[in-house]
Parts: sequence; C-alpha cells; structure tokens
Amino acid sequence: MTFAPLGLIDPLQRTLEELGYSTPTAIQEQAIPAILKGRDLLASAQTGTGKTAAFALPLLQTLTQQGSVVASNSVRALVLTPTRELAEQVLQSLQRYSEQLPLRSYAVYGGVSINPQMMALRKGVDVLVATPGRLLDLYRQNAIKFNQLQVLVLDEADRMLDLGFADELDQLFSALPRKRQTLLFSATFSALIRQMADGLLRDPLTIDISPRNSAIDSVEQWIIPVDKKRKTELFMQLLSERQWPQTLVFAKTRKAVDQLLEALQAQGVQADCIHGDRPQPARLRALTRFKDNEVSMLIATDVAARGLDIAQLPLVINFDLPINAEDYVHRIGRSGRAGASGEAISLVSADEVRQLAAIETLIQQLLQRREHSDFKPEHRVPETRLGGQLVKKPKKPKKPKVPGGKNKVHLGNWFDES
Ligand code: AMP
Repeated sequence: MTFAPLGLIDPLQRTLEELGYSTPTAIQEQAIPAILKGRDLLASAQTGTGKTAAFALPLLQTLTQQGSVVASNSVRALVLTPTRELAEQVLQSLQRYSEQLPLRSYAVYGGVSINPQMMALRKGVDVLVATPGRLLDLYRQNAIKFNQLQVLVLDEADRMLDLGFADELDQLFSALPRKRQTLLFSATFSALIRQMADGLLRDPLTIDISPRNSAIDSVEQWIIPVDKKRKTELFMQLLSERQWPQTLVFAKTRKAVDQLLEALQAQGVQADCIHGDRPQPARLRALTRFKDNEVSMLIATDVAARGLDIAQLPLVINFDLPINAEDYVHRIGRSGRAGASGEAISLVSADEVRQLAAIETLIQQLLQRREHSDFKPEHRVPETRLGGQLVKKPKKPKKPKVPGGKNKVHLGNWFDES
C-alpha cells in the first residue's frame, strides 16, 4: 500500500516522497483516515511504529485546510509528551512534515528558561508540543490560552502517569475546551489509562499495534549472570574483548549512570550520558553527539531515554534490568528497528531475578544465559520459568500515583522449585 489512498493533501504527499516514506506503517494506515474524519483515537503503539507521523500528518492537514489564523498566546493543537527529549523529537517531526505548509510548531518543556517560551507563545502557535508541568506553569502565568484548541494528542500517556503527571494532566484537561478531537497513544493499557481514556475520548477508534514480537524477534537477546558488585568490571572486560560498535547502555539510576560514565571516561572511552539530573542542553548535546557518532557510547536511564528515536542501533546493553518490564521492550526495541537486526545483552545479578522473570513473561521467552568464565557469580541467579500464577499481593508501589507494578505484568511462581 502507498500513502495515496489515505487522503493526504499534495504538499504532505510530496514531503513524504522527499523523506522516502513510500509505504504507510500499520498504525498510519489505520489512524490517518480516521483522524482526518475527526474521530477520537485510542491507540496502543510504541516508538518505532511510526506513531508520530500517524497523528502529525492528519493533524497538520486538518489545521491547514481550516486555514484559521492562530491568535496571540493561543494554540490550535496540543501534543503532550512525558519528557523533554520526546517533546523535541515530536517537534522535529512536525517541522519536517509541515515544511510545505503555512503552520508554526513549537515546543515547551521544563529545565530551561521559561521567558523565551513566553515570548514565542505571544505570536500564537498552530501546534504546541509540551510536557505537562511546564505547560501548566505557562497557563497559570497567562502565557497560553486554550480557546482555539481543537486537537489534543497525548503521546505516551502511560509514561506521563508513571512519571507522576496525573495531577497536572487533570488540571490541564479541565482548562481545555470540551469540544475537541482527542488522540491518546499509550504503550500499555493499565486500568488508570483506561479510566483516563473514558473521561477524555468520545467513541474512539481503538487501534492496537503491538510491535513487541516483531521488534524483539530481530534482536538477539541474552543475559550474563554476574555478581552485582562485579558488574562494572565485567562491563569493562566485555568492552575490551568485544570491541563494541555504537552502543546504548541502560542503567537503573542516575547515580549508576554517572558511575559507569566515570569508569568509561577513566579508560579513555568516548561516552556521554542522559538522565534527569543533567540540564536539558547537556542532554540534547549528548544525544546529538551519539547520533553523530562523536561518542560511541551513550548511557541513559529509562525515563530520559524513553521514546528517543535512535535509528538502527546494533547493540543495547542493560547494565541493570529495568524495574518495569515494559521498559525492557522499549530499550531493546531500539536495536531492531526497521528490519535491522540487533543485539541486546543484559548483565543480571541475583537480586534482579524478579525483574528478569517479569521480562521473560512479558516477551514470552526465556533469555539465554551465557556466563563469562572469569565472572562466574557467587550469588547464583535463580532459574526462572515463564508464566505462573498471579501474585496475590503485588509489591506496593512507592508512590501511590505511579501505576507501574499494578498495571504491568503480574507474576507468580517464577522460580523453579528445584
Ligand atoms: P516513531 O514511531 O513515530 O518514533 O517513528 C519511528 C521512525 O520511523 C522515525 O524515524 C520516522 O521518521 C520513521 N517513519 C515513520 N513513518 C514511516 C514510513 N511510513 N516509512 C518510513 N519511515 C517512517
């Protein structure tokens, strides 16, 4: 199938041709005609499925065809994203797709000065991409009005809730006009997301694009069992043995990211990192350096790296397993994009066996274990098995607003009784 039957206007078709997009992805094929008709959407889709174009193209078309002029401090379409990086990335996509259209897009997020954002909003913006906290700030300071708003997009809604944006979202929703089109994208559908969708969407078209298996199938995945205290040593050893290509490394905490970066830099490895404690310009610079091959290794936490479009990465290393099994899929999905094959190696210590079991159940496969002869663990990682009955009492999440753990994979008897 080509884009021609989807009803996109000529300037968009030309742009897609220039970008070399010849075939719509599954989500684009389903979402574009429905959004053009004005329908609300509830879509289960992750980064890498082409979801940005799926909402951006029809959104830009609708705004162009209506032709109305945006008033000062107003916005005609709003895209909410969980992180600054995703906001920038969505903005770049919008700008790319609207090159031949008379529309202005802009992004606002925290971690940078608010004043330039207030100045930019004065002219009015056709499509505003925003993280919830900063948008609420701007709204409270009267820098933005929503009376011209026609379309609301929630990108990675699950992650916005995971990050504790529920209150900000509620406040924003109550400030928006009721008559509007709403498009909700989420990688997972917890009870909280469904509740949110019920309150926001009118007769939505539901689309479920699960790239999980296809993304995962093209990635060779395995784990190296290792004692927790020897992870850095093993990491450095693997690095010297294997001459890794461009590599994205995930660690659980900001501290772990910093420590690993330090160890790498001490060995003269060109590396950079992104996590929530780094100022926004530094994060963006690290990402650009990595994408431009100036550094061969980027170390990141899940929150900072979620949704980043880093194309065709040959190798992802999980220095730690993520707390949330879904994040594993997000992490490794980066290495198997667009049909390219990739490799994902996880360093797993005995205390991570619960996470390991949750991941294996989610992806419905046991990860192959390959011990390193010099790093045989003193604390054995218990054997895992797929499935098992539900946990009767899931562990209480730390923050009540964070749904992770409640909505994710419920696991029971993971361990072999043997
Ligand atoms: P997304 O899931 O929106 O982050 O998109 C993932 C990547 O796929 C981005 O680099 C897009 O530029 C690219 N992409 C989106 N749609 C298409 C398409 N129909 N053909 C080729 N590439 C695409």
